[in-house]
Amino acid sequence: MADKVLASVLIEPKKFELREFDMPEIGSDEGILRVERCGVCGSDVHGYERMGEGQRILGHENLGFIAKIGTNASKKWGVVEGDRVALEEYVPCGSCEMCRSGNYRFCPQTSAFGHDPSTPRLWYGSTALTVEPALWGGYSQYMYMHPGAVVHKVPTHIDPSEAAFFLPFGNGYEWAVEYGGATLGSTVVVQGPGQQGLAAVIAAREAGAACIIVSGLGHDEHRLEVARRLGADYTVDVSSEDLVQKVMEYTRGHGADVVVNVTGGGSTTVREGMDMAAFNGVVALPAAGNENISVGGTGRKNLTMKWCHGHSYKSVEHAIETIASGRYPIKEIVTHHFGLNDVKHAIDSVAGEGEAGAIHVSVDPWA
Ligand SMILES: [Zn+2]
Ligand SMILES: [Zn+2]
Repeated sequence: MADKVLASVLIEPKKFELREFDMPEIGSDEGILRVERCGVCGSDVHGYERMGEGQRILGHENLGFIAKIGTNASKKWGVVEGDRVALEEYVPCGSCEMCRSGNYRFCPQTSAFGHDPSTPRLWYGSTALTVEPALWGGYSQYMYMHPGAVVHKVPTHIDPSEAAFFLPFGNGYEWAVEYGGATLGSTVVVQGPGQQGLAAVIAAREAGAACIIVSGLGHDEHRLEVARRLGADYTVDVSSEDLVQKVMEYTRGHGADVVVNVTGGGSTTVREGMDMAAFNGVVALPAAGNENISVGGTGRKNLTMKWCHGHSYKSVEHAIETIASGRYPIKEIVTHHFGLNDVKHAIDSVAGEGEAGAIHVSVDPWA
């Protein structure tokens, strides 16, 4: 194995530099991942604008091969050197109340929620270089696998760009199905046709939803077309059409059993979600904008609003299985990949300022 590691380091806001690191020594509970691809998350667009945690290697949607693994880690994760795996972004402790109750993404070692600021927060793509052994992000040839890493096996037949979509796709399952409750016969409205919105479309389809409606803006025309190819029954351009009216028309007055708001902005989208929800409907809010809502006037429809965060282990497993099945044209979503020299351009593209038509993009540190 190589003894040096090349990585792209965020040295100041929106500025990256290629740096060489020593390959870390590992103990029995740890491992080293040879990064094959790292997906660019929508949150990297905020991540690269601020230095909050200090200089660091970004990238938290990591896919790769086990390059080196300690004896205990091999037993615990059920993997050996050479196995293809995906790592979640979380690095939980495994023993706190959150971890023990299946909510490890809220573990204070990894989550900002309840974190003790006097200790470093461990979260791939976010932990600073000053925390040993520095290789906490996927925009790098190799990454450190902490004993708390959350590891999923990935079948080797999946194309790397498609496999690198596992995390946003896991979010799609979590938000549409686990939080939203999409199930056999549901009507599901997805507000926002970005990578996670498109993932929610597939998740809703897999859950057995009877009708899926996706909304977007005029410039989302191509994404709405992709949504239809993935299984959306209707798409609505909210710059020229009234979403609530359209949903009521398409559902013959029933409304949406599940609304997933992944707009990432807008000042009326939550209100619209409430207005188009069906009786007993659920409005899931993983990525809504800031909005003042008057709670009066919603009527007696037994509405549930849920603020959502991240994904469970199960949702990521579903995502990997669904990609592996080949049932959906995931290649329509995974539009671009870039080398380590182009990390800024990759993130710019996700922000809508780089390559036109980018939906999900990834970084190939060996390109
Ligand atoms: Zn992310
Ligand atoms: Zn914990």
